[in-house]
Order: sequence, then C-alpha cells, then structure tokens
Amino acid sequence: MIVLVRVLLVEDDQPIADSLRRGLVRYGYEVVWVRTGAEALAAEGAGMVLLDLGLPDMDGLDVCRELRARGDVPIIVISARADEVDRVVGLEIGADDYVSKPFGVREVIARMRAVLRRVQPAAKPAEQESLSGGRLVIDRRARRVHVDGAELALSPKEYDLLAFLADAPGAALTREQIMEAVWDAHWFGPTKTLDVHIGALRRKLGDAATVETVRGVGFRLVAGG
Ligand code: CA
Repeated sequence: MIVLVRVLLVEDDQPIADSLRRGLVRYGYEVVWVRTGAEALAAEGAGMVLLDLGLPDMDGLDVCRELRARGDVPIIVISARADEVDRVVGLEIGADDYVSKPFGVREVIARMRAVLRRVQPAAKPAEQESLSGGRLVIDRRARRVHVDGAELALSPKEYDLLAFLADAPGAALTREQIMEAVWDAHWFGPTKTLDVHIGALRRKLGDAATVETVRGVGFRLVAGG
C-alpha cells in the first residue's frame, strides 16, 4: 500500500531546507516548506512534520507542543545542538524522534519511515484486485495474477513489483520508491535490476496493462481498455 506523505518542513536555514527538500522529493514525498513557527502553525494537512528548533519568530519547542496539543501528526525535531536534544527528551514535548545537525538525507528518511511505521497501522490492501475492466486480476492473498483468465508465471520480485505499482494505478512512482518497497534498498545509483524486471513484466502483461516510463522519475502502471 502506498502512502503518499505530505511533509511539513519547518526550517529557516535555506541551504539545509533546500537539500532536505530535494532529498525528500526524490523519495516521493510531497514537501511544504515554511520558515517560521507561525507559518508552521497555520499550515494544514501535513502527514509528518520536520521541525527545526531554532526559528526566527518562536521557540521550536513551543511549536512542537502546540502541534502535539492539536493532534497526533508525527513530529521529528531537527536540532542544532546536543543540549537541545536533551531539552527535547527531558521536556517530553511530544516529538516522535529527533535528528541532530549535521545530518544526511538518508538518516532523516530512515527516521521518518520508522516513525511512520510506528504510527500507521499496516494498511490492508484489498485481497483481490481487478484492473483493466477485469482483464488483469491480482489476488494478493494467494500472490497470483491472471490476465484474461490465464495465470501469469511471475517471479516473486515480478509479483511484488506489479503489486506495488497496482497499489496506485496511474500514479508516477519514483525509482527510489520502487526500489525501497520491492527490494528494500536505499539506492541512489543506477538500478538496472529494476529495468530488467520492468521489461519482464511488460512482456508478460501484454496489452492487459502498460508499465509506462516516466522520464527522469520512474514508472506508472496504466490499465488497458
Ligand atoms: Ca534554524
């Protein structure tokens, strides 16, 4: 099940915000960037908050407390100093986790994923899914796929790949998202394995559904007629 998370990034330092935003977008997250506590409190619809503590208008700890008082959105605090971390932990202000500057984008992503796993109960996909007007049927319980009534012989990874793409038909999924979900890999380099499996899947699906290449991004599954 694909959960497209909208991240509210509260950070007044432009270089840090830029690099974080690029990394998050690359992983398929939608990012809303604000620079102040007031803007953070006015923002709506975030599924995750990355919160710098040193903000120009307010103490980030107050922003954290206020956000927590309003609801249970996951909050990861970005802190510049070790003593800030002590305050976060000591005051139990409701943050779910924290990262200390300097940090790498991968570290932030890993913490976000861990927090999201904790707070989101595993989504339960439909057991049987039918696409392309019933020509393509995916039985998730049995891990079997039928096209026009005939079962496809798919390798386990081909099945996982198709099941992942079919979670969001029509949506463009990034190579990084797919690699993480299907191969459980953090991978910024070339992903030839993915292309090989996409090629095999295309041959086996025939015209029942199309795996389109989204240039510079990744792939999308488009149901056939
Ligand atoms: Ca700051």
